[in-house]
Amino acid sequence: MRRIGAVELGGTKAVVGAAVMDGTARPQSIETVRIPTTTPEETLTRCVETLRALGGRMGGLDAVGVASFGPLQLDPHRPEYGSITRTPKPGWSGAPVRDHLANALGHLKEGGVPVAIDTDVNGAAVGEGRWGAAQGLDSHVYVTVGTGIGVGVVVGGRPQHGLVHPEGGHLLVRRDPARDAYGGHCPYHGDCLEGLACGPAIEARVGRPATELADDHPVWDLVGDYLGQMAANLLFALSPQRIVIGGGVGGRPGLLDRVRHHAQRHIGGYIDHPALTEGLAGFIVPPGLGAEAGLAGALALGWDAP
Ligand code: ZN
Repeated sequence: MRRIGAVELGGTKAVVGAAVMDGTARPQSIETVRIPTTTPEETLTRCVETLRALGGRMGGLDAVGVASFGPLQLDPHRPEYGSITRTPKPGWSGAPVRDHLANALGHLKEGGVPVAIDTDVNGAAVGEGRWGAAQGLDSHVYVTVGTGIGVGVVVGGRPQHGLVHPEGGHLLVRRDPARDAYGGHCPYHGDCLEGLACGPAIEARVGRPATELADDHPVWDLVGDYLGQMAANLLFALSPQRIVIGGGVGGRPGLLDRVRHHAQRHIGGYIDHPALTEGLAGFIVPPGLGAEAGLAGALALGWDAP
């Protein structure tokens, strides 16, 4: 048994938790504290205090996992490892998230607490693989569709990094201007996937928040088409065994059926595998951990901390 601390660091709030884990079963009783995300210094200091308090009741923490909004520098050979790189969020560009926690928790000292960090969506992908909808698989993708679109990738049981880390929310998709005149809202690409299919893009297109739209509003078929293109592209590029789609928009009733329908259309019968039968019902699935995927992912990252 190990005592693991977890931080799910989001743009508006951080959720800090701790649990005793045995490495296989999903931790059942996770004590959590919510902290508003303000300045890096204030937010991270409160995260440390909370980790110390939660851990103190367990007799100390053995490791901490952090699943953070990004983009993050995840090359361990870089001095900025574990920092947020460039973000429009005021004050957070360059924020040394991992170093702040690791220094405060004595990571570098003997007997210190190892601190692992990854993106929030990579963390959620790891969590879904360990305890959720992708259990037993070693290559899968987790997608959250909400105010933005994030894509976490696990390949060979490990969260995928590389030059940086996957940014699948900005996949380029085909837009038919005759069917969709909306030019997209991504400041970098205009009509990339996120620019066309996230919640604010839906609201900008129809003039009302996505949450107020009926489940049979025609925009959902459009959103399903773009997410279906995403799923086909992820399948072609990464060959995941499953794609988990969640988030506030992703969880809209009926949307996954539309995504499956369009994904199958875009795959075009090119890939033949038993996992892709039955209308992709077993290939494109909702999360198993629901809203807890983020913190569960941070716990899993903490368990795996070197
Ligand atoms: Zn974009």
